Amino acid sequence: MTDVVRWFRELAAEQDEDPGLVHDTLIIGGGAAGAGVLRDLASRGDASALLVDRGPFGGETSSKTGKAVHPGIRYLRMAFHRGLLAFRLREDPKIRQTFAQNLRGAWLDLQLVWYGTRERKLLIETGGGTVEEIPNIVFVLPDSPEKKWAVFFGISLYDLFTTLWAWCGLSPRFSRVRLFRDREALRRELPHLDSDDVLGGILYWDGRANNDKILVLKAIRDACLRGSETFPVRALSHVEAVRYEWVEDGGGHFLVTLARRFEADDLPETVTVKAHTLTNAAGPWIDEARNRTPRPDGRTSVVYSRGSHLEATNERIHRRLSADPRLQVGLVPLNAERQHYLRPFHQHGLWYIQCTTTDRAHTDPDLVVPEEDEIEELLHSYNALVGEEWRIGREDVFNVFCGIRPLAADDGGRIAVQDISRMFRVNERPCGGGTVYDMVNVKLTEFRWAGREVAGRIAREVRRKTGRRLGPSTTRRLPFLPVRDEELFAVHRADAPRRDPEFLREKVRHHVRHQMASAYADYLLNTGGIRDAVVFDATGRCDVDTDVLDLVLDEMAALLGWDDSRRRAEWDAFAEVYCRNMTFTELGDRVRKHAPAPVPPPARSTPHVRPHSA
Ligand SMILES: Cc1cc2nc3c(=O)[nH]c(=O)nc-3n(C[C@H](O)[C@H](O)[C@H](O)COP(=O)(O)OP(=O)(O)OC[C@H]3O[C@@H](n4cnc5c(N)ncnc54)[C@H](O)[C@@H]3O)c2cc1C
Repeated sequence: MTDVVRWFRELAAEQDEDPGLVHDTLIIGGGAAGAGVLRDLASRGDASALLVDRGPFGGETSSKTGKAVHPGIRYLRMAFHRGLLAFRLREDPKIRQTFAQNLRGAWLDLQLVWYGTRERKLLIETGGGTVEEIPNIVFVLPDSPEKKWAVFFGISLYDLFTTLWAWCGLSPRFSRVRLFRDREALRRELPHLDSDDVLGGILYWDGRANNDKILVLKAIRDACLRGSETFPVRALSHVEAVRYEWVEDGGGHFLVTLARRFEADDLPETVTVKAHTLTNAAGPWIDEARNRTPRPDGRTSVVYSRGSHLEATNERIHRRLSADPRLQVGLVPLNAERQHYLRPFHQHGLWYIQCTTTDRAHTDPDLVVPEEDEIEELLHSYNALVGEEWRIGREDVFNVFCGIRPLAADDGGRIAVQDISRMFRVNERPCGGGTVYDMVNVKLTEFRWAGREVAGRIAREVRRKTGRRLGPSTTRRLPFLPVRDEELFAVHRADAPRRDPEFLREKVRHHVRHQMASAYADYLLNTGGIRDAVVFDATGRCDVDTDVLDLVLDEMAALLGWDDSRRRAEWDAFAEVYCRNMTFTELGDRVRKHAPAPVPPPARSTPHVRPHSA
């Protein structure tokens, strides 16, 4: 586990040393993209790296994903679509691009699917149970953009990629794609389905991270544990990169000013650190971070695509899903307009449906809130497929959240946000005598691959500047180092006890000690602790047990030494985000009206991290 206070103190002491440590890279952003670079450098054994995030690690987009670890059927479809557009075999008014632009888009998306297949395999093999396989069924509807046989062909090709990568690893595997020719065939397989519109379906297997934020934490923790005294690998949450510039002293390096965003009166507000290269993994804030230099270019390099998720359950859904593994299958209606993923999840002992939609254009990265029609769209999409007993309404929704992804704005021509290639980009940018790597749209699925790409470039740059050779990347076969009791408190544990206060307290302790939990809102909303508070009332409807919320707050306050006003501030920060996201549902109101009892428990340990804001 990283120790932010200790490392910030170390950095404060190091800044006065001459020449002092020049890190191989400084990474701005501790989401999936930054974590991938840090871990890849650490895997080389002889690289030093420093990662900072102004909030908790994985607290932004990387905890707002659909949790799919997938090459992306949709991206394969886009590759074909753009290919057909290039040769004028199809028309699409949303995409007005030249032959070369369309061909490039097709090539990028095809690459994304091919290598994404490899990444899914590697994450399942090395992720220590965090990434698992799940079955999905794509439903072909009357207004689907492709015909049933075309979808079957596409998914078979998608699966063939999986088979080929499996054979490369000498583990033979054969296709598991299955075609359901009509709705009767589907109904025989999935009795909870009931839709007159469905024309058929195709079953295939894909990957799913049972918790996106934990995957990021695992990568960061793993990287830090692999550092050494000579080549330290450090990651500091609640530390912001506020300014950077290239200075020519002693061969030249970046000088980066870091400001602490946690309370520690004995530490300076800012420190400066040196680095040979700079990695900008600030996600949606990539342009803002890039321009924090005395010579900003003021350019906008990305556009945003927003997605929303709702999580819903009731006693019937929870019981049926736990009793019948056949029903634990993701539903993917092939809509004409926007893609929806309707997947069952089992977390913290609770079965629920996560409904996800993406691809709405968005402008302000600092204001990302769900809209009412998104909630309606998702409820409608799910309810249109299932029978009466499985339908959900606003009263079944216990959590809503949304996120944005930055997409490269330089695709040229005219193109709708949902059609921009989802392949990540690394924009290598000279700055003074050094190089900055801007990482655009790194998905959870490709974070290891993108990390290796950037770390490889850093290795070349370090060699060019200093003559020092970094070792090769070894993340391909490197398992994530586990921590004590990880399995016992894993969010996806199959037999996780529910409503057991002692187990809950132990779980909170585990997350504070080993999973870097330092803010109440982050633990409940980003790590998913809120699911521990979901209960069913006498009618089987879901409800939020405020006693559980209080228990978690008390335990965190005791462990992290929060006084009463800090405890209140932590609650307010959680309630503000949760209730705002739940505006269009019923449970948000109940939490809004709750106020935790003001009596703080006695502090049991020294504060670990005390961020100013949650
Ligand atoms: C709705 C939605 C659904 C998605 N679903 C999937 C999916 O199912 N599967 C998949 O593979 N991908 C999915 N993605 C994509 C994936 O989640 C993101 O692309 C990925 O998490 C981005 O990670 P990141 O590190 O680039 O950004 P982030 O996770 O946002 O991290 C950037 C970090 O930089 C920090 N930061 C910013 N400025 C500074 C600064 N100046 N100093 C210090 N820190 C700073 C922020 O605090 C933040 O933590 C989805 C994306 C969205 C929006």
